[in-house]
Amino acid sequence: MTPIIQTIMLHRKQVDVLRLDKMTPGGIGNKYYKLRYNLLAAKEQGLKSILSFGGAFSNHLHALSAIGKQEGFQTIGVVRGEDDPDNPTLQDLRNNDMHLHFISRQDYRQKNDASFIRSLEERYGSFYLLPEGGSNSLAVQGCREILQGVKQDYNHILVAVGTGATVAGIVATPELTSRVTGIAVLKGEDGLSEVVQKFIEPYEINTTWDISFRYHLGGYARYNADLMEYIRNIRDENELETDPVYTSKVVWACADMLEKNEIRQDEKVLLIHTGGMQGWTGWNYRFRIS
Ligand SMILES: *Cc1c(COP(=O)(O)O)cnc(C)c1O
Repeated sequence: MTPIIQTIMLHRKQVDVLRLDKMTPGGIGNKYYKLRYNLLAAKEQGLKSILSFGGAFSNHLHALSAIGKQEGFQTIGVVRGEDDPDNPTLQDLRNNDMHLHFISRQDYRQKNDASFIRSLEERYGSFYLLPEGGSNSLAVQGCREILQGVKQDYNHILVAVGTGATVAGIVATPELTSRVTGIAVLKGEDGLSEVVQKFIEPYEINTTWDISFRYHLGGYARYNADLMEYIRNIRDENELETDPVYTSKVVWACADMLEKNEIRQDEKVLLIHTGGMQGWTGWNYRFRIS
């Protein structure tokens, strides 16, 4: 993937943005890297179906349905909550021929139990099982390639964190010495650092990393008028389109850290735009913005 880098001004400083949203097919972003080796593994195992989990606005299920269809897999999405025919994300999943299996929030907590997986296998036959968010060791392996071809003279790299596989892959980039800060977008994910630590265990790490929990705004996709205004400002001042759940918070975090001098003016900074622009249709639907 040829790197596409855009330079923006944040707090009177030039900051580079790696546009995965522009580099990957269909603007899929980081999910492209997370899925790549998993799809290969499914093929190698001779499996025709891939099953995974997510919420009704999941970028992961969205990406899986698109790539899965393209690559000739039957995809099955186990979705938390109830069906809603008006939800544009679910409509996209169906248009990509993903079979949707709805379960209650309560049952969703048991989604990793062996007995639950067995019941799904009885119903759908054998499938390649991808955990929620598509995050497993093969996803991390794929994300180690996100920085491929990027000149590695950055002091500091910032990237959004949901389940942690992407930031783990960045940290485990071969030869990387830049400091990496993951910006958590979920609240109450205290175990995230341990998850990342586990993901990077197989690799030699030459860099320092941390996860900041200061910028999640109270949780996943929580409506916040200030963030919306901020997104408009980034767009107007820098011609950079960001998504409401992930990358906008990374830009905001970087500006705040510059302001607080937690990132120095002389440091070379790279933000990773992980994609997720499909999230806008779901966001606008949820909050009834037209
Ligand atoms: C899924 C997603 C992330 C988070 O990736 P994880 O590997 O779950 O941490 C970041 N940005 C975007 C746009 C995403 O869709």
